[in-house]
Amino acid sequence: MGDCIFCKIINKEIPSEIVYEDEKVIAFKDVNPAAPIHILVVPKKHIETLLDVSKEDKDLISYIYQTINKIAKEQKFAQNGFRVIANCGKDSGQEVMHIHFHVIGGKKLGDKIVD
Ligand code: AMP
Ligand code: ZN
Repeated sequence: MGDCIFCKIINKEIPSEIVYEDEKVIAFKDVNPAAPIHILVVPKKHIETLLDVSKEDKDLISYIYQTINKIAKEQKFAQNGFRVIANCGKDSGQEVMHIHFHVIGGKKLGDKIVD
């Protein structure tokens, strides 16, 4: 979609540190990491928020979790554990209106999911 920053990353119009890519999904390093490991896993289909996920996206959402599983094993942080976060809308502070899954790890994360 026109001015979507993640669509631009998908289309290679702006650079990113890609850690995984296939025909359905791209994963790249967050430019402003919250932890030593901070990867964004993003479907190539432009879906604005979780509220826009429809029945036809059922396989895609499952595929994203399978991809996270694969990346965690490949990048060797699966065993230590990690956290997956998807922000949705205003109160979450969602900045980029193209759904994405933050995969965060590489250190002992806080006990509280929110502060
Ligand atoms: P959210 O607040 O859930 O929408 O998260 C958006 C995330 O995208 C933030 O953690 C940003 O640091 C990250 N981000 C924004 N622009 C880029 C970019 N060009 N490359 C990589 N990560 C980005
Ligand atoms: Zn997009």
